[in-house]
Amino acid sequence: SLLEREKDTICAIATPVGPGGIGIVRISGADASKILKNVFKPKRNITDFESHRLYYGHVQDPHSHEIIDECMAVLMRAPHSYTREDVVELQSHSGHAVLKRILDLAIAQGARLAEPGEFTKRAFINGRIDLAQAEALMDLINAQTEEERRLAVSTLMGKEDSETERIRNVLLELLAHLEVAIDFPDEDVEILDEGHLASRLENDVLTPIRQLIQSYEQGRILREGALVVFGGRPNVGKSSIFNAILGMGRVIVSPIPGTTRDIIEEAVDIEGLRIVLVDTAGIRAKEKVGEDTGVDIVEAQGIELSLSRLKDANLVLVVFDLSEDLKDEDFEVFSYLPEDAPFLVVFNKADLVDDPEGRFKKMEEVLASMFPSYANKRGSILVSAQTGLGLKELKKALFKAIIGEEGSTLKRHGFIPNLRQKECLERAFAFAERAKEGLDKGRPLEVVAMDVRDVLRAFEEVTGRGIEGDLLDKIFSNFCLGK
Ligand code: GDP
Ligand code: ZN
Repeated sequence: SLLEREKDTICAIATPVGPGGIGIVRISGADASKILKNVFKPKRNITDFESHRLYYGHVQDPHSHEIIDECMAVLMRAPHSYTREDVVELQSHSGHAVLKRILDLAIAQGARLAEPGEFTKRAFINGRIDLAQAEALMDLINAQTEEERRLAVSTLMGKEDSETERIRNVLLELLAHLEVAIDFPDEDVEILDEGHLASRLENDVLTPIRQLIQSYEQGRILREGALVVFGGRPNVGKSSIFNAILGMGRVIVSPIPGTTRDIIEEAVDIEGLRIVLVDTAGIRAKEKVGEDTGVDIVEAQGIELSLSRLKDANLVLVVFDLSEDLKDEDFEVFSYLPEDAPFLVVFNKADLVDDPEGRFKKMEEVLASMFPSYANKRGSILVSAQTGLGLKELKKALFKAIIGEEGSTLKRHGFIPNLRQKECLERAFAFAERAKEGLDKGRPLEVVAMDVRDVLRAFEEVTGRGIEGDLLDKIFSNFCLGK
């Protein structure tokens, strides 16, 4: 069905519908220019439409001659268009009634309503972009912060010299060597020996694939945001700091409200990085849940959710009250954190203390004596949510803890895989390990070649070269309509 449906002419509204600015109806396929001629009347008489030229005129119903709207029209002839087919865009006034009428006219002329992502799917099928780029395009359309935009754009632009292309070329080269060695075992052709092949597999395939897989986690932070979760006993000022940090950036409206009685989530764009802040309302030990303790089931669910957020956190902000002595309850949160959980200690309410710096130092020493690794590995920050003292430093420390000292990946986004791509890479990696093992153990080259072919196949799914129709449909159906 992929091949049949790929031939017909599709149309969709390509802009969000609403009153005000302009709206675009996009048409792609063999009939696009015919439809343009039938429904659009340019102001000036012309014999034919030139490609990539904007015309002013009216959209008109060819049967009733009713004028629908004034309009700008452009025809982009194949292959110099988004889909590499003939593409027509009709720009009219936005507004549902207008756009719907234009769409109906196009459909009456033989076009069919496009499925979500179908224009982009055609761009892919016709070789204009690869699948990784198509997915990056979707990310770009949905990008809410500067880092999300940069990551998507760098994947989108990097077709020619991308890391994936380089690895693929190495695989093809290795395969060629293997095949020559298999076909001409006795000839004196110049081929690499097994040791050479094994080291190329290690250095030029396994290592870069391993690095790509590792970059996934950081890419996830760039794509989905960093999860920053508050911990600490009641009343230390968690919610106050939560609100102060929200105030430092642009709050990103999320379609999923994350507020329950015991947990509040907000996403905020701080210097281009999406940070998902989670304020927990205090975690009472789960064992205490029961009728006689007054901890009810709803609260128990809140606790469950808080605990899972703490476990998934990219960073936990553990808040202490500088104006009070440390108590057991202050440390309860640590019993819920995984051993190596990244956390940052925040001493709040500096404004209530006479010599905050002196007391801060003393408290840090107490912490260092309790956690031997604390002194050199963990930082702590002195703030007052009330006066704003130390909040800028907190923001800086937060960045540093999340993205590392230099923010390496942030500066040089090359290709960073998404979840689907990471899974392909993991399969490719496993096959490549097997191929290398085959070379090391002197297995027949035919067997090694099969493994390398499997590497190639798994690897090509990253860019969509070897992908099946059904999976393609699934990936592109995640796109929005008209894209
Ligand atoms: P939470 O239970 O940890 O979320 O703490 P809240 O943010 O609700 O704060 C508890 C109380 O401490 C409130 O009355 C806040 O106004 C107060 N508070 C929070 N931060 C500060 C601060 O930096 N200085 C002072 N003086 N009071 C604070
Ligand atoms: Zn609170």
